[in-house]
Amino acid sequence: MTSDLDKQFVWHPCTQMKDHEILPPIEIVKGEGPFLFDNNGKKYIDGISSWWVNLLGHSNHELTKELQLQSETLEHVIFAGFTHEYAGKLAAELCRLAPGNPQKVFFSDCGSAAVEVALKMSFQYWLQTGKPKKKRFVSLSGAYHGETLGALSVGGCSLYKDIYKPIMLNTFDVPGPDCRPKNDGKTVEERSLEAFDILKKVVEENHEEIAAIFIEPLVQCANCMNMYSPVYLKKLRDLCTEYNIHLVADEIAVGFGRTGKWFACEHADIVPDFLCTSKGLTGGYMPFAATIVQDKEVFDAFYGDYTEYKAFYHSHSYTGNPMGCRLGLKVIEILESKVMAELPERIKVLQEILEKLSELKHVGEIRQCGFIGAVELFKNAGNFENYPAEQRVGWNVYRKALEKGALLRPLSDVIYFLTPLNIPIDTLRELGDIAYESIKEVTRKQDGVKVRK
Ligand code: PMP
Repeated sequence: MTSDLDKQFVWHPCTQMKDHEILPPIEIVKGEGPFLFDNNGKKYIDGISSWWVNLLGHSNHELTKELQLQSETLEHVIFAGFTHEYAGKLAAELCRLAPGNPQKVFFSDCGSAAVEVALKMSFQYWLQTGKPKKKRFVSLSGAYHGETLGALSVGGCSLYKDIYKPIMLNTFDVPGPDCRPKNDGKTVEERSLEAFDILKKVVEENHEEIAAIFIEPLVQCANCMNMYSPVYLKKLRDLCTEYNIHLVADEIAVGFGRTGKWFACEHADIVPDFLCTSKGLTGGYMPFAATIVQDKEVFDAFYGDYTEYKAFYHSHSYTGNPMGCRLGLKVIEILESKVMAELPERIKVLQEILEKLSELKHVGEIRQCGFIGAVELFKNAGNFENYPAEQRVGWNVYRKALEKGALLRPLSDVIYFLTPLNIPIDTLRELGDIAYESIKEVTRKQDGVKVRK
């Protein structure tokens, strides 16, 4: 019944809806820790934290309690002209934990919005401090910063972006640090440095027009978990400082412990001018986001008499939502009290899982950054020859893994692990085993498939 209504009325995200003829959406009725349960009682390990949001397991008792208490006391209040206890507390905690010594936090309600905030703030800052020419942004290939037009403009994933180019911002389009395997014998660091040199040239020639550069520190998650060297980040930080360009770290996916540290920027020891966070910030309980501003100077450029009209007139209805703020505080408390300390052990287990997967014939590369792990499948792992798209190998592994009880939604032919940080170790191992068997079965079957050219 429910699925009939879904079929009739719902348009699902990021999906070719025709695929549902073969694999209808699975109706989930319950979540518990790392598990999801469907309407037939079947259990799935949530191997991708339901699009990278679920940080501490589904229906986490501590978070649920916090949400319940807050919803019974104050579910929401307009955040312009009003505030509440948890907004200041969460902002202070984010400033304590984020790299450097950030001064201000601007709340919004999803990752894309946090990126739009940074984008607009950066532009307006330069406008109001005598640099009106700085009104363009850099788009790095492979980057992903969200789906709204500004966020999509500074991203660079062709699949999501290209069709909308005619209605987008006019960005400087530059190759990103693409370190996915190629047959050229170059190391990740060499590739990162090559990409940096191209970016540097663009910046040297156009810095007077560039307001900000957005970067996903260390892992371009949506770009098939492309992982690059911290050296790129260090150099980028220096370049931005030299040429008066804001560096915006989009830690929406990689922040909050995912890479083994609170924020991925810490691996390169850099301090961004703006840091965007969302997803895990509420443990995946509700849409909520923050743009963390490093320098007070930025805030000051918007401060003045009303009739100067230089305030940041950006609003979202749910900005500063009390339930979101309170959840954020609890997430931080749980991470600090136990989860972060236990993470290194889980990171080691993930490494073992990836190493075992590397034995499979069609696994051409394994990559890992903290608690994010990925394996890339190739038709010929020896020369990194891709499978033809028609074979839909990643999707078939996904289907096989579902049968076996795991949610491992792939990115193309990349199967990745991005589980709740507190997943029990035996469940993590079970997930690894399901991935192993699913890849083995699907790729073996594909070996026998002849593809028409
Ligand atoms: N930036 C990054 C790095 C992301 O991974 C995402 C979401 N996948 C976003 C921005 C956009 O966040 P949201 O979907 O909440 O708008």
